[in-house]
Amino acid sequence: MNIATKTVNVVQETASILEKLGVAKSLYTGGDMASYSPVTGEQVASLKTDSAADAAAKIEKAEAAFRAWRLVPAPKRGELVRLLGEELRAHKADLGRLVSIEAGKITSEGLGEVQEMIDICDFAVGLSRQLYGLTIATERPGHRMMETWHPLGVIGVISAFNFPVAVWSWNTALALVCGNAVVWKPSEKTPLTALASQAILEKALARFGDAPEGLSQVLIGDRAIGEVLVDHPKVALVSATGSTRMGRDVGPRLAKRFARAILELGGNNGGIVCPSADLDMALRAIAFGAMGTAGQRCTTLRRLFVHESVYDALVPRLKKAYQSVSVGNPLESTALVGPLVDKPAFDGMQKALSEAKAHGGTITGGERVDLGHANSYYVKPALVEMPKQAGPVTEETFAPILYVMKYSDFDAAVADHNAVGAGLSSSIFTLDLQEAERFLSPDGSDCGIANVNIGTSGAEIGGAFGGEKETGGGRESGSDAWKAYMRRATNTINYSKALPLAQGVSFDIE
Ligand code: NAD
Repeated sequence: MNIATKTVNVVQETASILEKLGVAKSLYTGGDMASYSPVTGEQVASLKTDSAADAAAKIEKAEAAFRAWRLVPAPKRGELVRLLGEELRAHKADLGRLVSIEAGKITSEGLGEVQEMIDICDFAVGLSRQLYGLTIATERPGHRMMETWHPLGVIGVISAFNFPVAVWSWNTALALVCGNAVVWKPSEKTPLTALASQAILEKALARFGDAPEGLSQVLIGDRAIGEVLVDHPKVALVSATGSTRMGRDVGPRLAKRFARAILELGGNNGGIVCPSADLDMALRAIAFGAMGTAGQRCTTLRRLFVHESVYDALVPRLKKAYQSVSVGNPLESTALVGPLVDKPAFDGMQKALSEAKAHGGTITGGERVDLGHANSYYVKPALVEMPKQAGPVTEETFAPILYVMKYSDFDAAVADHNAVGAGLSSSIFTLDLQEAERFLSPDGSDCGIANVNIGTSGAEIGGAFGGEKETGGGRESGSDAWKAYMRRATNTINYSKALPLAQGVSFDIE
């Protein structure tokens, strides 16, 4: 079912949301960088980009802000993030709508993304009173040893188009309570939601009162501006979210100057459906994981291994779901699948499908859906039955393509599951305790996220988020991910009247 566009005016609506959120008009009109909505393909704004010199000046300003902010007690820093959470609650509808306009997400996902920002703020407020260090037993009498966590510096955030605001909030909420300043380079495909998020933070800063100026700033531009952030000696950590190609460039550049990196890169996420699986549950989880966000989540389900004994019970139902899923304008309908971000995404999808066909794949769906806008790219999600894992199956194509393969042996299925470069998210559907536990064990899934009877996408903020291998190894969001945003000092204090040396070393000078 395709849901046609009615009479949405994305240009007008974008301007009115930005105005309502308090974004200065000069930032998004009359500039040199065009911004488009994938919903209709229309240009919605033209932004002024930052030059390399502008970017360097903003980084310097952020560093000065950091020097003051690091001395503010952490629970007080948490108060700023609490206010940010309040402002996000108040502006959830507008920001969520802007996410839908700019990234093409369906309404509930646009709002869900803002909810994720609110959730991480709540988490970070609690964290602001829990930046604990350990007290460690020492081998020397009259001594105490402990760890202290200190603010790190300027945190650079580079983000991808598909989570245009949540990723910034994961980093920023934590970075701020940890005593850091933030400079954000959003995707050139989604700069407006960045300006809107910054405007919302500025409301919180105004209420907070005496935070240093320049604590959070946005850089507008393409990868060249991202590179300024990566190479600047005053940026202590760069948290970069995007393709593995981007990470291959950013990682070594950061390593060269010994800066810290959180790399959150591409995924090629797999699921295994075992003989005992609850197929109704698996069907829903697979459908959301593979078709949701039009296949444009880093955690989108892209490879499915189905046991031969349940293949014929599951795959025809799945195909039916693919044929009947509603594709349409996310702003004006109840469609479940919105547009691809742009033409290169559409071309990439078609290329992968023709390669899959050449490798013996049988395709259901995948064709373009015409909603009457020449420059918007809606597609039917594609399900491709593959004789084996080969060709495009081993790479991430950032589009709704699910490759389905039959398996007979559990160990071989796990081995195939792990035999790709990326290592972000994974799932197993089984009611067999041994299979579930083996999937989570050291020789099970090799991903940063391994789920049982849940799909690969839709993580909560409480857990650490990230993946292994070509996904980059970074962790953000919950658990102890905050430690990446602070520097650790080990302190040993001698309160005795002697000077015993560690390991019994003697060094008597008199
Ligand atoms: P992209 O790599 O094209 O761009 C991401 C960001 O990196 C943009 O802001 C871009 O300007 C910047 N950039 C690109 N090259 C750079 C360089 N050499 N130096 C500095 N900055 C550079 O990715 P995209 O198309 O926006 O997003 C889709 C990709 O992101 C997918 O591969 C997806 O899996 C991945 N992603 C990963 C996660 C995760 O948490 N692991 C989350 C979201 C998206």
